[in-house]
Amino acid sequence: MSRRPLIAANWKLHKTRAEVRSFAGAFLAGENVSTTDVLVAPSAPLLDVAVAAFAGSSIVIAGQDASPHPSGAFTGEVSAIQLVDAGCGAVILGHSERRAYHHESDALIRAKLGAALDAGLMPILCVGETLDERESGRTELVVLGELDGALDGLSSERLSRLVVAYEPVWAIGTGRNATPDDAQAVHAAIRARLGMLLDASVAESVRILYGGSVKPDNAAALLERPDIDGALVGGASLDADSFLRIVRASGSRG
Ligand code: PEP
Repeated sequence: MSRRPLIAANWKLHKTRAEVRSFAGAFLAGENVSTTDVLVAPSAPLLDVAVAAFAGSSIVIAGQDASPHPSGAFTGEVSAIQLVDAGCGAVILGHSERRAYHHESDALIRAKLGAALDAGLMPILCVGETLDERESGRTELVVLGELDGALDGLSSERLSRLVVAYEPVWAIGTGRNATPDDAQAVHAAIRARLGMLLDASVAESVRILYGGSVKPDNAAALLERPDIDGALVGGASLDADSFLRIVRASGSRG
């Protein structure tokens, strides 16, 4: 099956409103890859300016997290419904920085996933092992455990828009990345597990992104692997030219 490539920018806690406008101007002036879906995830106060700056383009704006609750007394939270109201079409969930710094459990991530699906967002579920887990031979155990934990009880029908991002924690922001062979092996294991959890056609259509120090010069080698359907990009997505070059590297895959 041919899955449409998806290149997603995770801007984390970076950029001002002026910087978002300037990025959008530069990116849209150079973007011409019609075979790839592109998504940008700014922090919450920048969502409205990003939606306005990319209006009229096919770029999807995404949240970096969403509350499991639709509304209520939850200071500091942003709901999936509010993301949709702000113009978002997607949300990143279970990023390793949230798992590590905010102690997010699989149960919490599953609840967030349900809320995102209820609101109509495309969820990008992040999974990945630490260096210690990789070196002790537990990569698949950890990654597939996180997948099971997040998807438990959710039907194939509800998960038809799911995107999974495999992000080895040791490769995020470190300049180290998994080799294309290593990444493909984990992506294939994720695809096989999806085949056990979901209807075959849904498991085949779920896009699995790789994330962890993706750069313009290593993107093509990763993206040519059969189960690597795109990338979730942190540091190299902050600069419009660098992000454009990664989007272009996916162009031949579609
Ligand atoms: C990320 O934070 O999702 C990420 C992959 O970051 P980086 O590209 O900087 O490693």
